Amino acid sequence: MTKKLYYENPYIQTFSARVIKQDQDYVVLSETAFYPTGGGQPHDTGTLNGIDVTNVETVDREIRHYLAQSLPENTEVVEGNIDWERRLDHMQQHAGQHILSAAFESLFGFQTISFHLGKESATIDLDTTAVTPEQLRETEKFANQIILENRSIDTIWVTLEELAQYKLRKATTLKEDIRLVIIPDFDYNACGGTHPKETGQVRLIKILQIEKQKRQIRVEFICGERVLTHLHRKQEVLFNLISILNAPEEKLVDAAKTVLENGKSSEKQIANLKDSLIHYEAKELLSNAEKHVVTATFQSRSIQELQKLAKTVVGGSPETICILVSENEHKLQIVAAKGDIVERSMKELVTNVLPYINGKGGGNEKMAQGGGENTLSSERLIEKALFYIR
Ligand SMILES: [Zn+2]
Repeated sequence: MTKKLYYENPYIQTFSARVIKQDQDYVVLSETAFYPTGGGQPHDTGTLNGIDVTNVETVDREIRHYLAQSLPENTEVVEGNIDWERRLDHMQQHAGQHILSAAFESLFGFQTISFHLGKESATIDLDTTAVTPEQLRETEKFANQIILENRSIDTIWVTLEELAQYKLRKATTLKEDIRLVIIPDFDYNACGGTHPKETGQVRLIKILQIEKQKRQIRVEFICGERVLTHLHRKQEVLFNLISILNAPEEKLVDAAKTVLENGKSSEKQIANLKDSLIHYEAKELLSNAEKHVVTATFQSRSIQELQKLAKTVVGGSPETICILVSENEHKLQIVAAKGDIVERSMKELVTNVLPYINGKGGGNEKMAQGGGENTLSSERLIEKALFYIR
């Protein structure tokens, strides 16, 4: 079995070991400082004799180091190098989780039922259906106090009998090789992960947000260097907004609200203007009507606009038929509408001309519309429609 250096001293960054098994994809070593994925903590990365270690897993009680390329055959000894930035980050998030979970439990009795350490942030799921903003603030404050006091984080191995002396935060199902991670007078926990020696090395805990799950609350948080990275990103967004909205930080929200409100009122004004424009347009089209038929062609007008215009035209003249066509990016759209006293089916009219443009459409007796390809000009399409009427 491989000697677990990361348990003897979690600060070991380099080591040498004998190769005791060499497979095509992985190697097993006499001892290792590489932490394998487990207990919510992702595996370490780094190098063995300069070759990248891409994954570390425990399979059949073997710690397997997966490599980017194979070691030369019959390699006897390797020099291991841990990616320390990644490991320290994991230790900070993991110990931070112990502290945060213990704080929630000691203040409010919320038990942690799972932990996930992600690339950007970590989460715990609390066995409760509600947490108030005040409870979050209080817990965060308490957890950061524990960090500030720089309490020791001890790890000990105990037997099942010895385990009875400790009041664990969460019962363990382990029967042997039980490893306890202890922050004296605060947190007693069975855990196989790596942790710093003192709480101070976690540096800071910040709760980012909570998310309501079915029967629990998910709390997202960050610790250590991640807090700085996060703050830096937030600052950048903030500075950009300050410059874009031309307002100081404390007035940003009001400035954003004003911009949105102005946008909405402009949209309303544009809609009103468009409405009155359509009335003028309809009047002009009617004045050019021939034998109670109005026709017109356009570029790039939406079918909704055409419908509105046609409806306005026939609304003001019950004996009129209105046929409008618009060309939009190689497509033709046609709308036909009739006044109340015209005895014609607009659906039939449109259905009759659509085959010329390989089109599809729909509608009813009073108004119908359709669209297809620009296989002929807008004017020719109107001629086809007129031919059908007459
Ligand atoms: Zn742990």
